[in-house]
Amino acid sequence: MLTIRERLAKVSFFEVKPDCSSLSPKEKLAAIRCAEAALIMTRLYLKQVWAGNPQILDELKEREDKEGKDLLRYFLIHGSPWDGYHDDETFIPGLCDKPKWGSFYPHDITEDAWNKWLLLHPQDRKEFESNYTVIKRSARKLIAVPYSETYIEHLNEAAGHLRGAASLLPEGKLKTFLELRADAFRSNDYFESDLAWVDTDGTPIEVMIGPNETEIDGFRGLKAAFEAHIALPDKVASAELARFAPAVPVFDQILSQEFKFNPKGAAIPIEVVSDIMRGGEASFGYFFVAYNLPNDRRVHDLKGSKKVISATMMEAKFSKLTLPIAGRILPTYLQDRCTYRGRLLFVLAHELSHGMGPSTVHVDGRDMPFETAFRDLHSCLEEAKADMLGARLLDYFHSYGLIDDKALEECIVTEIASYFQVWKQGFTESHSRGHLIEYNWLVASKAIRFNETSQKLEINVDACISAMIRLSTKLLNIQVSGDYNKAKDFIEYWSEVPPKIMNILNTLSGIPIAVCPIWNLSGLK
Ligand SMILES: [Zn+2]
Repeated sequence: MLTIRERLAKVSFFEVKPDCSSLSPKEKLAAIRCAEAALIMTRLYLKQVWAGNPQILDELKEREDKEGKDLLRYFLIHGSPWDGYHDDETFIPGLCDKPKWGSFYPHDITEDAWNKWLLLHPQDRKEFESNYTVIKRSARKLIAVPYSETYIEHLNEAAGHLRGAASLLPEGKLKTFLELRADAFRSNDYFESDLAWVDTDGTPIEVMIGPNETEIDGFRGLKAAFEAHIALPDKVASAELARFAPAVPVFDQILSQEFKFNPKGAAIPIEVVSDIMRGGEASFGYFFVAYNLPNDRRVHDLKGSKKVISATMMEAKFSKLTLPIAGRILPTYLQDRCTYRGRLLFVLAHELSHGMGPSTVHVDGRDMPFETAFRDLHSCLEEAKADMLGARLLDYFHSYGLIDDKALEECIVTEIASYFQVWKQGFTESHSRGHLIEYNWLVASKAIRFNETSQKLEINVDACISAMIRLSTKLLNIQVSGDYNKAKDFIEYWSEVPPKIMNILNTLSGIPIAVCPIWNLSGLK
């Protein structure tokens, strides 16, 4: 087992100190209030991952010895005592395995007990399947308790900060969102504030805060984890990407006819930002480079969704992780095809693709969101879909002259190099597993090949694009079918870890596994 020193040595820390000089004094104060609320999201998230987390954190904070300080530092990378970069093994001896569904359900709940309860109490289904309830056992009954009750103290405190931030801002979209989100923390109804958030492009500060992703619910894939992202919009970079937006509704229209789902709303704001600070799930582990929110598909259908790309995290991951990997695994003729531009465009297409596809499926005689139908498989299926549909969308942009041949090649080559960056952190996380499906598919399609003699990865870009488009069709058909078993068979067949990948990964030692930001808020003072 690795020592804590060895684990820390694999992480590249970097300081994040954005230039906040464009903000007025009041906007700076509002950003500070939002950062306070983000810290509360972190406290909530830690509880959601494991009820024992706050106690472990307190114990680590009290330790004065070197090992204790190192353990604390590593705990604060993962938000738990389990190492997400090494198959979730515990790095604090003597602790249990990582809970498979956080603290969202009784620890001993079973599929059978869940199904039986809902069969006998169909009136409970809505609350049980809500993204914003915790399932508890009370006197042999199962009950759904809203987040607004379970986390009432923390949420009241966070709402106070959001209202405080709103009071510092003039009338406008950001103020409205902050007020509505503060209301949602109390009412447990996020719909209105989700709709309002889609409108918040072009504001001086980018603020996303609330319960969003359902990755840590390994039981039903339903319960949302709290997170926060406070950032500064980059107007020039955002305008550069906004030129792709008008082509998207037409592409979505074609797709919705082919796969028989409703096209999405017309709003597709795209924002490139520099991070100020993060909280909750966004501030641990994988440090995502982008998000497409809200996740509520009703909002997608009615209005659309907003895509935010973090230039801070993308740049750090690209320069410290992906580029050195490309230097080792790509043949000379492909080296200059691994670029930041390629990464940015692929991530944009990936996020746009999250906003496309079916919203509901018809299974067991009822309509349900497709994430409910696919439960634990949903995240992996959706990430692979976003990658492959993203490639299809980039090919569409290319055919309309929005990107040239070289840019398209850069997108594909950089994406494939980045698979290895993700795999260095393990194979179980949903993006990672999605990449396995894609890689195996590309190998089977003879679009990529590991050259044993040169020990380099040969990539035929044209063949990759055709294969990726075919895979996007497969994945969309599975999503539209709502067929859990079909998805399970497909994912299990295609997500094996080929021995060759392990050989390639072995050649990448010395390159950091992950980046970890250190927030410096002095620019707000
Ligand atoms: Zn994604």
